[in-house]
Amino acid sequence: MFLTSEEASPEAGSGGQEHARSGRSAPLPRRRIVLSCAQCGGRNYRKTKARREGLSPLTLSKFCSTCNAHTQHREAV
Ligand SMILES: [Zn+2]
Repeated sequence: MFLTSEEASPEAGSGGQEHARSGRSAPLPRRRIVLSCAQCGGRNYRKTKARREGLSPLTLSKFCSTCNAHTQHREAV
């Protein structure tokens, strides 16, 4: 454990860090995608995808309530 006392207590006063950007603990940038049914085109699922996964379109087998069956769901924009 390497927690410093400054990080552990945010109310510890002005340590000169007030201008520090809050990006340190921010999550990695993720793209929002929609999965649409290949059979009926219904957009049944929303998902986020990490940037580095973004090169190949995603295809998943998901349940579609319109088709009432498992169908291929493709990433749609
Ligand atoms: Zn469908």
